[in-house]
Amino acid sequence: MEQEQNRLLVVDDDVGICTLFSEVAEGCGYVVKTINTVFDFKATYEVFKPTLLFIDLNIADKDGIELLQFLSKHNCKSPVVVISGHDEKVRSSVFRLGKSYGLEMVLHLPKPVSVPTLRDILEREKSRILVPSLVLLAKAIQHFDFILHYQPLISFNTKKIEGVEALVRWTPPVGGMFFPESFIPLAEQSELIKPLTHWIIEHAFQQSVEWNLNHDFYIAINLSQKVLDSVTVADDIIALATQYRIDPSKICFEITETSAMAEPQIVMEILARLRIKGFKLSIDDFGTGYSSLVELHRLPFSEMKIDRSFVTNIMADTQCYRIAKSVIELGHSLDLIVVAEGVEDNEAWDKLITLGCDIAQGYYMSKPLSAKDFEHWLKKYSEEVTRIWKK
Ligand code: C2E
Ligand code: CA
Ligand code: CA
Repeated sequence: MEQEQNRLLVVDDDVGICTLFSEVAEGCGYVVKTINTVFDFKATYEVFKPTLLFIDLNIADKDGIELLQFLSKHNCKSPVVVISGHDEKVRSSVFRLGKSYGLEMVLHLPKPVSVPTLRDILEREKSRILVPSLVLLAKAIQHFDFILHYQPLISFNTKKIEGVEALVRWTPPVGGMFFPESFIPLAEQSELIKPLTHWIIEHAFQQSVEWNLNHDFYIAINLSQKVLDSVTVADDIIALATQYRIDPSKICFEITETSAMAEPQIVMEILARLRIKGFKLSIDDFGTGYSSLVELHRLPFSEMKIDRSFVTNIMADTQCYRIAKSVIELGHSLDLIVVAEGVEDNEAWDKLITLGCDIAQGYYMSKPLSAKDFEHWLKKYSEEVTRIWKK
């Protein structure tokens, strides 16, 4: 898994944006080229051979679609990110168009893009050069080359840390880091997701015991649909919790809306058993699935997480705002605590407070951090909150 050079090509006619993107990307170890005309793009593309492209849709001489057609003709396999001042609808149609051309479209974002989001994309795409394979993943699971990162869940009202979400990263011994979207699907296609989830739960439990000596927040753990295929899963989790003397109210299991609706009978049995034992249960990525009110009411969730695509675009896109608003109302009418994930700035935070949302998670407060970095962050955060309250 040797690391090649990471080369970013930015196509934007705003010089300020090009400078900002260059600075951030160079800081992340990229070699960067910025261009502002379609003519320059064509000339530069073949020589520079970018491993990642950021494309604006409005370039002085043409629109971005011509660039996508050009990339498709040249059989471009590098990931493409669309960053544009156009609204969600325009961006997503161009995004789908790119996909229909066979391009590796990664995501589309509204302008302005915050520096933490930019860094996150750059780090993620860097790790793509190391292509994870099933054989490597199986080896990694044997040696447990993984770590958990933790991201705080903060009460809008009291600013108290209510919980942290555990997010897994694969750290190969040769260096670099894989983000879950590059290997969880691979683990799910095989049985590897089971030993991996066991490792994740065990580590989160150990961490919970340690942190709960001094703090009272819970740890949220993601459960893939592929591990919810037999009721024995609940027995295994309960046995592990007994072994580590876990207080179940300090653990929350997150299950996506789509997983919860896939096999409602088995999932219902597993969730009911976990809930009876006192674990919290959260319905994740809410708004992306097709659950009916009846099903929602039947499943024993204690919390609902609005999908981050609605939260991140809450200020720029009125449809996202309306969806977030109705999800919050729906959650509250079902007596659920509502969490907004993907809170990236002060404006989104303020807007969600006016909507009565309960808990926030997002880069505005902190990105996911290693346990050690999280402890440092927590110390600084607690001092800051105490200082503000004292005023
Ligand atoms: P998720 O459960 O929806 O997790 C939240 C994701 O949103 C995390 O990405 C987190 O880094 C990201 N995020 C948080 N705040 C912001 C923000 O303000 N802006 C943006 N743009 N993103 C934000 P991550 O860690 O890459 O995880 C991606 C997905 O991988 C997770 O989505 C979850 O579905 C899966 N995953 C992560 N860890 C585990 C795990 O331990 N087990 C399983 N089965 N799946 C996991
Ligand atoms: Ca989650
Ligand atoms: Ca989520």
